[in-house]
Amino acid sequence: MSVLIAGAGIGGLTLALTCHQTGIPFRIFEQVEKIEPLGVGINLQPHAVRELFELGLEKELDAFGVRTTNVTYFSKLGGKIWNEPRGKDAGYHWPQYSVHRGKLQTMLHDALMKRTHDNIVETGCAFSSFEEDKAGVSISLQARDGKLLEKVTGDVLIGCDGIHSSVRHQLFPNEGPPVWGGAILWRGTTTTEPFLDGATMAMAGHEFQKFVTYPISKVDRQTGKALINWIAELKFDADKVWSKEDWNRQGVLEDFLPAFENWHFDWLDVPKLIVDHNAVYEFPMVDRDPLDQWTFGRVTLLGDAAHAMYPIGSNGATQGIVDARILVRQLLATGLNSEALASYENERRPITSKIVLANRGNGPDQIMEIVEQKCAGKFDDIHQVISQSQLEERASKYKHLTGFDVETLNAQPSIIPSDQIIN
Ligand SMILES: Cc1cc2nc3c(=O)[nH]c(=O)nc-3n(C[C@H](O)[C@H](O)[C@H](O)COP(=O)(O)OP(=O)(O)OC[C@H]3O[C@@H](n4cnc5c(N)ncnc54)[C@H](O)[C@@H]3O)c2cc1C
Repeated sequence: MSVLIAGAGIGGLTLALTCHQTGIPFRIFEQVEKIEPLGVGINLQPHAVRELFELGLEKELDAFGVRTTNVTYFSKLGGKIWNEPRGKDAGYHWPQYSVHRGKLQTMLHDALMKRTHDNIVETGCAFSSFEEDKAGVSISLQARDGKLLEKVTGDVLIGCDGIHSSVRHQLFPNEGPPVWGGAILWRGTTTTEPFLDGATMAMAGHEFQKFVTYPISKVDRQTGKALINWIAELKFDADKVWSKEDWNRQGVLEDFLPAFENWHFDWLDVPKLIVDHNAVYEFPMVDRDPLDQWTFGRVTLLGDAAHAMYPIGSNGATQGIVDARILVRQLLATGLNSEALASYENERRPITSKIVLANRGNGPDQIMEIVEQKCAGKFDDIHQVISQSQLEERASKYKHLTGFDVETLNAQPSIIPSDQIIN
């Protein structure tokens, strides 16, 4: 028998790699026919990077990721509000990375294929439904043409099937679509010269209009250019009708460029970065309400399926990776059974629910809104607007909440003990 994994995204692949690393039998099913490098930029916090390093993927991450040095907040007029070092520069034993989401997914997929020497990810197989009894769980899968495939049985089923999770839908059939709070994100990439030190994540604006940008490739030695990820965000009345969320919907410049046309800063020309884009996608910023329960007997949820959150504070992929590692630790401790799933949930649900809610309140980005309200983004000396201690307090509060403070992470033993690693 084995662990059945629905979804080969960031969380599902990390779970599969960790099962392989510790000798737990598993099968993994993915709805798409071919895993392709979709999406744009995401950041991986040191607590997720540690897990990927402990999976032996440091060299692979370094091959395409950028080690993030700083996160810097600016007002809508480009004045610096707050800067904090990140990753090793902040004292963590592990770096933070800015990466292309699709490249991360393909890297995890390739590593799994290489390590298992097999076509282990069963693609073109969408999870459709499950049935459970005392002996195990059996799932129905559907091919791309809608044809039902043979049923598969296992000990436990883990729904890693993202924000539109079908596993979650079977557990909560009346839940409805993800929740939209009124913000639209236009997510793009541009190949251009890097800004600031070439490895900083920069955010400018306030709650109702924000621009976030960071490089997701190393600088090309010949051209001097890097791939720069950016997100232009505008907040509307949440009653406004907007298109349903789809990671791959093309964005239209006229819908958001006019709002940013005067954002020429001495450290970045925002309109130019937008106009020179390679690709733009439009995505309503959605999440899901925290659940009171993830685990029902032999079935549980992981990653976005369990706790889809706003992409604020760089926690989406990060929390999914940590979920996967903690779940395997519990499977090793208790066996492939409902007790293991319940202890995993006990550890992960409270903290991830808090992050979902903190992100609805803007997470660490709230500092920009405070400055906007106090001085409409105009200041000569930021400390006349907000004190250094208030700035520090805001930043450290979110880190504590997410389990992301330096001392805690550096002092924590590995999630997967080394004597459990067999591959
Ligand atoms: C195409 C795509 C592009 C994205 N782009 C971005 C981005 O640019 N920025 C950002 O912040 N986040 C992006 N995300 C979301 C981000 O990957 C997640 O928030 C985060 O990595 C958590 O990972 P996850 O494994 O829980 O979910 P995901 O990485 O979303 O993975 C879920 C996986 O499950 C598969 N799946 C769905 N339904 C089924 C089913 N019924 N049966 C089998 N498989 C199923 C999906 O195809 C996908 O591969 C994107 C997600 C996707 C799917």
